[in-house]
Amino acid sequence: MGGYPSSKPMKKSLGDLFLREKTLKERGEKVLGFTLTSPAFPPPPIREKILNFYKFSFSYSPAGGDLGLREVLANFYSKKWQVDLKKENVFVGNGGKEVLFILLQVLLKKKGEVILFSPYWPSYVGMVKMAGGKLKILKTSEKHGFYPDLKELKKKISSKTRALILNSPCNPTGRILRQKEVEYLADLSQKRNFILISDEVYEIYDFENLYCSFLKFFHKNIFCVFSASKIFSLCGWRLGWGFGDEKLIEEMKSYQNDLSTSPHTLSQILMREIFREEKKVLRYFSKNKKLAQERRDFVINFLKERKIDFIFPEGGIAIFIKIPSKFKNAFSFSETLLEKEKVSVAPGEIFGHKKYFRMNLALPFEDLKEGLKRIARYYS
Ligand code: PMP
Repeated sequence: MGGYPSSKPMKKSLGDLFLREKTLKERGEKVLGFTLTSPAFPPPPIREKILNFYKFSFSYSPAGGDLGLREVLANFYSKKWQVDLKKENVFVGNGGKEVLFILLQVLLKKKGEVILFSPYWPSYVGMVKMAGGKLKILKTSEKHGFYPDLKELKKKISSKTRALILNSPCNPTGRILRQKEVEYLADLSQKRNFILISDEVYEIYDFENLYCSFLKFFHKNIFCVFSASKIFSLCGWRLGWGFGDEKLIEEMKSYQNDLSTSPHTLSQILMREIFREEKKVLRYFSKNKKLAQERRDFVINFLKERKIDFIFPEGGIAIFIKIPSKFKNAFSFSETLLEKEKVSVAPGEIFGHKKYFRMNLALPFEDLKEGLKRIARYYS
């Protein structure tokens, strides 16, 4: 299946941009891809483990995850956040995506509203809709650096509110909730009886040492999501995990049993072995955080020198950059970048803001340098 000829106007959807990028690549053009947030850092040394464990990987695992993996995850995060998590509080899925998807399906069985701050990671919108929930989107303001307004949030919570989705470090803005806010929100979820879904898949990319997990204030209304894709650069393993109330996890297990039976067996066994070597894991995390921080600093210095506006990424592996003023929206800027410069970025419209675009930071320096050079041409 080919793309459409470049003489035809592009339709305004991310799918079309992806298709166009694919077509260009198939034609042998080199496209610098900054669209996805998959880190291009070295994964942990796992080759030997794969050879040792593959013979145990031919069967299904239990729904909800391998018991050994659930146990090591409970121990690791309990120690990290000084909280008492049991393996019964852990749910493992095929990626953080499956964890979130199943969670929303279960929570929204009897419908209800889900509150989400914009700019947001686009899949939340699709997932809530697929689960039959009603979305209430609260815009954060550019003037206030896209920090969520908690007073506004408090006013919007009603008896219909089933869940609130938070994402810190945030994709795409890189904003991080402060511990004070985390404590306040954890308390609010209990008082107002909604489930607080905290997506913390970028947990290790905390450049200003601001990040605090909701696990620190864990109770039955909190559900936290994590992922091997981002912290181990293992997107292809499709492995994520979440911590929540035991009863909720039981319902999620039964849903997963009908959906995919279990998460990918080999990925789980290997992840269990990786987490067993706790010191090595911690060293690996700090090394990757440093790699990401060096790239963030390089990119923000480049943008500052050229007076290009952006949102300061306190964490995460992406940066949200303002489009040049001569473009009317981020889609048209992204189309131009792709067609003329062979650079692909994610237009802000998909995150709920048309004046910004998002680019991945966790990439080789040469790609960042070359891509930024091409992007900067449009700001002069
Ligand atoms: N949450 C956020 C905010 C993400 O950016 C992503 C991946 N782009 C995910 C969850 C899901 O990641 P995965 O399914 O690869 O674990």
